[in-house]
Amino acid sequence: MARVIPLADARSAPLAPELHRLAVAPRVAPTGLLADARGRSLRDLRVSVTDRCNFRCVYCMPKDAFGRDHAFLPHAELLTFEEIARLARVFKAHGVEKIRLTGGEPLLRKNIERLVEMLAAIGGLDLTLTTNGSLLARKARELKAAGLNRVTVSLDALDDDIFRAMNDVDFPVAKVLDGIEAAMQAGLAPIKINMVVKRGMNEHEIMPMVRRFRGSGHILRFIEYMDVGHTNGWRMDEVVPSAEVLAIIGREFPLEAIEAAYAGEVAERWRYRDSANAGEIGVISSVTQAFCRDCTRARLATDGKLYTCLFATAGYDLRALLRGGRSDDEIGNYLAAIWLQRADRYSEIRSEHTAALPKIEMSYIGG
Ligand code: SAM
Repeated sequence: MARVIPLADARSAPLAPELHRLAVAPRVAPTGLLADARGRSLRDLRVSVTDRCNFRCVYCMPKDAFGRDHAFLPHAELLTFEEIARLARVFKAHGVEKIRLTGGEPLLRKNIERLVEMLAAIGGLDLTLTTNGSLLARKARELKAAGLNRVTVSLDALDDDIFRAMNDVDFPVAKVLDGIEAAMQAGLAPIKINMVVKRGMNEHEIMPMVRRFRGSGHILRFIEYMDVGHTNGWRMDEVVPSAEVLAIIGREFPLEAIEAAYAGEVAERWRYRDSANAGEIGVISSVTQAFCRDCTRARLATDGKLYTCLFATAGYDLRALLRGGRSDDEIGNYLAAIWLQRADRYSEIRSEHTAALPKIEMSYIGG
């Protein structure tokens, strides 16, 4: 007698309550025109490809919280490249135009260029990556060949002692500068260079950074230190407001504001008044001038949870849908239901009190 092998119906796998609630949502065709509860479109997706980093930046992954015994996610918990690419297609159908790979340190994820290739094969996506630059000199050409358009490099100081103290693993600044050079040679331009300014730590590096990158073709951007996660012990008085950064720069190089390049751009752009060739700088004022109103970003954490705000406390487990046998159509429907009810605006309501609310670490959710 023939053996009957029952086909397990993976779809009956129980869903987490937040998704279960959305299972009854009406079908939304993938027109790319989703708008959330505050009228904001879905345009950008940030994907954290690893929660690991080879730096221990004091404001992001401080050593006392991310020590040798820290339990990072086991490999099986991470989304595979195939899963990320599949979700990318679903997100694109619902309006996403740009994907940024981040982490953790994205260049630590083995064969990351293979993922870039798979995303590039989807077509029509602007592909970028944010990195600490430590492995960029080695990887820039492969990344470009795989289809990456641009990179953003984080660099908090030019002074080697300050830089080593901030990354807290004694990493020399010269290697990051080599990485930036390699990225430029590879054509991953224009390169954005992000400097987080923390009072008492690196505000004296603002002018050396300005002088170094003025006229280089790279876009230097100053980021206000944010209350992401809990491990950094954030305090409002350690934030250097963008207005102060602009005033410091303006004393040596007068500045004038320029228009945003596109709707929803987080950086406010400024150019040097004395020279058309000196380029531009940007400030990202997530603390003093929140830009929630224009936020078109979703974040996919390393384990496949979808967050609709950097400060969200609960994510939606898309990995459970992928691994539970749901079709692209079904996953797209969940995504639409999640976006339609999105109402987050944490940065607009931030105060000394909200700093104490539960939060998720940036390395996991993706910076
Ligand atoms: N490892 C990559 C890198 O260094 O760029 C990508 C991940 S990292 C979390 C992304 C960016 O977030 C970096 O520019 C980092 O400086 C920034 N960042 C981390 N913690 C921050 C905080 N508390 N406030 C503002 N920016 C922060």
